[in-house]
Amino acid sequence: MTPVELIRAPFFHTPVNAFRDDLALVCHEDGGLLIRDGRIAESGDFAAVRQAFPGAAVTDWRDGFVLPGFVDTHVHFPQLRILGGLGRTLLDWLEHVALPEEARMADVAYATGTANRFVGSLAAHGTTTALVFGSHFSAATAALFEAAGAAGLRVISGLVVSDRYLRPELHQSPRDAYRDSTELIRRFHRHGRLLYAVTPRFALSASEPMLEMCGTLLAEHEGLRVQTHINESVAEIAEVPKLFPWAADYLAVYERYGLTGARTVLAHDVHPTDSELERLAAGRTSIAHCPSSNAALGNGIFPLRRHVDAGVTCAIGTDVGGGTGFGMLKEGLQAHLMQRVAADGMNLDPARLCYLVTRAGADAVGLGDEIGDFRPGKAADLVYIRPPAESSLAEVLSRVQSLEESLAAIFTLAGPESVREVRVAGQPVHRAGEPIQGRLLAR
Ligand SMILES: [Zn+2]
Repeated sequence: MTPVELIRAPFFHTPVNAFRDDLALVCHEDGGLLIRDGRIAESGDFAAVRQAFPGAAVTDWRDGFVLPGFVDTHVHFPQLRILGGLGRTLLDWLEHVALPEEARMADVAYATGTANRFVGSLAAHGTTTALVFGSHFSAATAALFEAAGAAGLRVISGLVVSDRYLRPELHQSPRDAYRDSTELIRRFHRHGRLLYAVTPRFALSASEPMLEMCGTLLAEHEGLRVQTHINESVAEIAEVPKLFPWAADYLAVYERYGLTGARTVLAHDVHPTDSELERLAAGRTSIAHCPSSNAALGNGIFPLRRHVDAGVTCAIGTDVGGGTGFGMLKEGLQAHLMQRVAADGMNLDPARLCYLVTRAGADAVGLGDEIGDFRPGKAADLVYIRPPAESSLAEVLSRVQSLEESLAAIFTLAGPESVREVRVAGQPVHRAGEPIQGRLLAR
């Protein structure tokens, strides 16, 4: 008989879209999550689940809270060490901060160290699934996949392809990019929890033959995802018509090469046209909203209401290193704050924040049937949060009146010091005091 585990804890999840349903947030004060074979077999009030499965071994986490594992829909692994480069515009930051560090990934040892620390940082912040920009170098991108595979995280990534605009050492011919991408797909796509994403850096750095090559990869392999950037800064957008004079707008560039649709996540979209929003919704292309990055690089305030009203799926991305760190809770808070000061902002209550960092992300990366909430049948990807004694969060939680207030406090105050254990498919990928890096090195 398969051993079953019953986690007893207050838990939250959003099984449905919190922008469409006011009752999307499901909370259980004395909750029970029954895990069997790495999946949620039952979820609900502890007493009821206990009665149905009296033989299950109980894990008592009543001193904390459990949330579904976070899904980071936009993050760059080579940029771990350049977090904090404040005060620049996007194109200036790319040239002087991001791209020099991206070039260092040619050194496989440096890239491997970065990949291991990157994966450890995701797990330590409660992120169980991430759509990750790889490197411009094949060996560095392979190092990321290997680190993610060893750690047990769900990582969707790919070789970043570009053949102009950046630095010569980051450019590759479409032919070479095709060869390297194909090899990485063969080695890593659908291996364990890994998936491959075709990853043109952005329209400015990809010629039409390169974009065509990306479309060829999609046609040749089942189940690939696509990730790139769109409509991030006004100065960037102004370059698009010079390079693609036939394109009506930025999105049209990607549409022409078959790079949009339900398998695609486009980062930012701070400055979309109404037509672009309509086409994103119709094609079920998702947007990774990266509020810290948008603010840090001065790109503007994300028009969330226009996206939601148009029916576009939006999730959250930390955009390390244009953003300010790996914390998805912090990123949710930043989204909330930006919407508070937006002229047409939406109220991101705890239900919507929970939805954005879990269920919406799962849908965006095409894993909505597998992860994102605690309905029976889902993989048991979860985060156990318990603030340190005497922390501000512990003080606040000692006096809140409702679970919803607790969740608001968690989004406001919980950092990695409050992330006690993280599981993917029921298996621990992070425990406080036992960072994943240590386990990797021990192998
Ligand atoms: Zn980015």
